[in-house]
Amino acid sequence: MTAATMQESQRSPRMENLFIDGQSRPSVSGETFDVFNPATGELYARVAKAGAEDANAAVAAAKVGARRWQETPLAEREAFFWKAAKALQEKGEEFVDSLIQESGSTLTKARSEVKKSMDILRAAAGEVRRIEGATSPGQVGKWSFSIRQPVGVFVAITPWNVPLAISLKKVTLALAHGNAVVLKPASYTPVVGVMMGHLFHEAGLPAGALNVVTGPGKLLGDIFATHPDVKAISFTGETVTGKALAAVAASHLKKFSLELGGKNPAIVLADADLEYAVQAITFAAFHHQGQNCMSVDRVIIEEPVHDQVVNELVKRASALKVGDPRLPETHLGPMVHRTQLEAVHRLVQSSVAAGARVLCGGQPSPPYYPPTVVVDVQPGMPLFEEETFGPVAPVIKARDANHALELANNSRYGLAAAVFTRDLDRAFTFAGRLEVGMVHINDATIYTETNAPFGGVKESGFGREGLGGWSWEEMTEAKWITFQVGKKGFPF
Ligand code: NDP
Repeated sequence: MTAATMQESQRSPRMENLFIDGQSRPSVSGETFDVFNPATGELYARVAKAGAEDANAAVAAAKVGARRWQETPLAEREAFFWKAAKALQEKGEEFVDSLIQESGSTLTKARSEVKKSMDILRAAAGEVRRIEGATSPGQVGKWSFSIRQPVGVFVAITPWNVPLAISLKKVTLALAHGNAVVLKPASYTPVVGVMMGHLFHEAGLPAGALNVVTGPGKLLGDIFATHPDVKAISFTGETVTGKALAAVAASHLKKFSLELGGKNPAIVLADADLEYAVQAITFAAFHHQGQNCMSVDRVIIEEPVHDQVVNELVKRASALKVGDPRLPETHLGPMVHRTQLEAVHRLVQSSVAAGARVLCGGQPSPPYYPPTVVVDVQPGMPLFEEETFGPVAPVIKARDANHALELANNSRYGLAAAVFTRDLDRAFTFAGRLEVGMVHINDATIYTETNAPFGGVKESGFGREGLGGWSWEEMTEAKWITFQVGKKGFPF
């Protein structure tokens, strides 16, 4: 975007349509909804509000798009991902601008999200030729083997916190497995999803292979979950929403996977490199204002080093810069929405009322919430039990390593965990016994690799996302095929 067009976009809101069957089109009703810049409160975009007819049109387009995409030669499909990565590189700063304007991402977070998205696209190119079947021993004269076929129409429903990379990963993986996709981005952040639809189309994706439908989640989610031509749904969002969607999808026997909330522990054992541990925790607790499903949401510290770690954490948290997300030196930008800020503050205040102590932060200055460290947090307090999704590090003191493990597993969530120790035995004991989908030893909880199984256990969801076979269950159907050599006998 040039300086002139940027100024123009500040004067009048950006207009975005739905993207269906390779075309930009308004909703059938003509209705729109508004998207506001969380930092300035200004109207950023006016976006088409899809209804039932639009949702059905997107599914119909995807059904045809799936066939077009599956008939595209493998080499061309592979090349598409490279072209899309290159196009994203060229338009990277436009995506960065939208991420800042609609989600309140800092410049650093937005740029790293675009970079991660390019990496996902490049990695997916190889998946096109990697999907494997199997052979199995057959009876005499019988050849027996199985193949994996795309499910067909795949629906991706995504949240507002990492709106490009989460949407792009689901869409890219589903396409790499030969499916067509209908993407429903979050209503706080619909613009980057629509931009992605255009970008993929310009990079050569056949019409209908990716459709982007913006509008109310409950209405559209229910339509997709009950539509006979939708074969699988991948949802990322809050646990309560995921449960509601799962109930509808299950009764219509859809395949679905759920990436939900977390209450991720970072455990600091007494023998850890403490300075390094605090550095990693500071990043993972406060990155993107704590609005990341993998954010550190409980800091569990072994008693002998508790005070030292807390002092260092408070020092680092207090030094972080909060403010204008466009500035490269800003660490924390605005909360996505006033309701999110108020929800975070309620969790802090109710925990303080129950006996916890705020050592730094804790005073909101809308739209900003400062990096906050709360100590003396105990099981039963809201900051121990509920996902915070804000820039708060709740600290819990553990008597010893066993107690730390017990505290870490005392949660209905099970997404990611980090353990800091120099002791190999303890590191791998924790890795084995932590009830989560992802454990990082001596690293931040916020860490992803496109070819690793991403996902959680307990109320953090089920199903895994990842290249190299981790998404086969969700994104393909196995089909068993036999071939009879010669004639076999039948009972009658
Ligand atoms: P929500 O659950 O509110 O929304 C997620 C998406 O679901 C949005 O697109 C929303 O649309 C849509 N939606 C809303 N109601 C329904 C419904 N009944 N059926 C189907 N879809 C619906 O989550 P947030 O956007 O608030 O995201 C934050 C949450 O996401 C946090 O809990 C976080 O932990 C979780 N998350 C999990 C990740 C993981 O990988 N485990 C990664 C990132 C976030 P609309 O916006 O129109 O309401």
